Amino acid sequence: MCPFCDEAEESVEHLFTACVVVVRVWTAFSVWCNISPLILFDFKDILEIHKFIKRSKKEEKIIHGLAMIASWCIWKERNEVVFSQKRCNPQDIIGEMKSRGFAWMKNRASCKYISWTEWCKYPLYML
Ligand SMILES: [Zn+2]
Repeated sequence: MCPFCDEAEESVEHLFTACVVVVRVWTAFSVWCNISPLILFDFKDILEIHKFIKRSKKEEKIIHGLAMIASWCIWKERNEVVFSQKRCNPQDIIGEMKSRGFAWMKNRASCKYISWTEWCKYPLYML
């Protein structure tokens, strides 16, 4: 069973796109990035999120990177629930997505001086 909701059989599709917990994460993701609500059916859709939005190449690149980071955070939370008996919390996934995304962007030469406060409001503010 899914370690997040315990209501469906665990599968890649359920864990990353359909679970009630990750739907909350993707909703927060789309609000944060100011993009249309995401309709995801399988993991391939996550890999192609940036193709569904009509933005500049640079914005698409950041959104794609953040989708990869979000997926990593979902997988990490899943493993902590399964192996460390952590209590699942979508807010933890969202918080980690923002902080790991910030570290990723801040280590790029063109974004060395980005602000954590502004980043938390909108991750494309510096463009
Ligand atoms: Zn679930």
